[in-house]
Order: sequence, then C-alpha cells, then structure tokens
Amino acid sequence: MKGAHLNDETIQAIALDETYNDPEATGHMAGCETCREAVESYRLMFSGMTEMPAAGFDFDVKMLVLPQLQVQRKPQPALKPVLVIIAVVLAALTGGGYYFRKDLGEIFNRSLPYLLYCLGPAAVMLLVLLLADMLNTHRQKMNRLEYY
Ligand SMILES: [Zn+2]
Repeated sequence: MKGAHLNDETIQAIALDETYNDPEATGHMAGCETCREAVESYRLMFSGMTEMPAAGFDFDVKMLVLPQLQVQRKPQPALKPVLVIIAVVLAALTGGGYYFRKDLGEIFNRSLPYLLYCLGPAAVMLLVLLLADMLNTHRQKMNRLEYY
C-alpha cells in the first residue's frame, strides 16, 4: 500500500478512535498531508454530528398515524346462522327418526336408502355452511385489500 493513500474506512477509524494503532497507517499519516486533512475533516464532521440535537418531531407521530392504521372492525357475525342450521339438521334428524322409528333398527344394518336419507341433508347443509363461510372469508379479505 506504499504510495497509495489510506482508504476511507481506515481514515474514518482513525478519526473516530484516538487509540487507533496501525503502524502502516500512522506511518503514512506522518508523511501525507492529504490523509491528515481527510482525518481532520472526518473528526469535524463526527463532532458536528454529536453536537446536533436529537432528531424529533414537533408533532405527535403516534396520534397522526394510529387512526389511519386502525382497521374498521365489523361486528362479529352472530352465532345465529350456525344455531339455525344445527336446529334444522336436528329437527330433520328427529323428524326422520320419529317417522322411521319402526325401521330405525334396520337403518344401520340393512337399509342403505334410509341411511342416505339421514346423511344426505346433513351433508348438503354442511356443504352450504362451508360455502357460505368461504364466501364470507373471501369478501372480508377483498375488503381488507381494498382498504390498503
Ligand atoms: Zn495519504
């Protein structure tokens, strides 16, 4: 590194650290006016930076930003639809069970159509519920995207 000036990193290290000890760098500094001036410039700049007042806002950033960040919360959908669906399914099963009470013993043994009669409406109800939930979730996500 003879003949070449010190690199910026070394010059900054010397400017920041009074005890910086690198024989090659200090040797170069002794004979090079340019590098000494660079170190002095950095020292001036660094001392100026420490004397500067800390950055701050003259207004309350929190109060300015927070209202914009708060997502409007919709009231949680009530459990009513779920309860209605459960009640309808229970009523259908109870009604079917009462209507087919004589065959109830055979339903799970021999009679597949009766079993399908019991499971079919429940499966359809479940599918409708899942579809409605999926659509609702999709709508909420789209609303959130629109907000931003
Ligand atoms: Zn130099």
